[in-house]
Amino acid sequence: MANLLLTEKCVRACSYCFAKEYLKESKENVLSWENLIYVADLFEASNERHISLLGGEPTLHPDFVDFVLYLFERKLKVNVFTSGIMANKILETARKNLLNIPFENLSFTCNYNHPDTSTSNETKQINKFLQSFSKSITLGFNLYQPNFELKYLVDAILKYDLRKHIRLGLAQPIPG
Ligand code: SF4
Repeated sequence: MANLLLTEKCVRACSYCFAKEYLKESKENVLSWENLIYVADLFEASNERHISLLGGEPTLHPDFVDFVLYLFERKLKVNVFTSGIMANKILETARKNLLNIPFENLSFTCNYNHPDTSTSNETKQINKFLQSFSKSITLGFNLYQPNFELKYLVDAILKYDLRKHIRLGLAQPIPG
């Protein structure tokens, strides 16, 4: 499976972020349609079918929904890594256009930080996203400090009827 970075922007600043340096350096660098089509052609030629969309926050790309629809038309299976924090307008467009795509073709991995580390507005936005795409969402958690608890993830899975699956990531120490 290949990872495709759509933007170098994010609304969060997670201490363990793998893309921290990029997020600091450039705010306007987004993937072009030309490059997206090039990648889709490459996938078609290689028979690879799975692609992950990342950033930064991929949903901040101005053409995020159209990109997903295009990749779906090209018969690729898309997984979107997101913080789940989406502006109402983006979430509404995503709901309107993407809700009918079967889970096998479009899934989300939500990097679900502990609610205590989010503002109330962020938590509200994440909850709206979880409610909207419930069955297509796997929660993700990054191990980056010795003490952690996972119960809040299980609580959210049960509350929003999400996939009964947690993706655990192991963050590499970042010098400095
Ligand atoms: S949500 Fe993801 S991209 Fe954004 S700062 Fe956190 S780890 Fe980085």
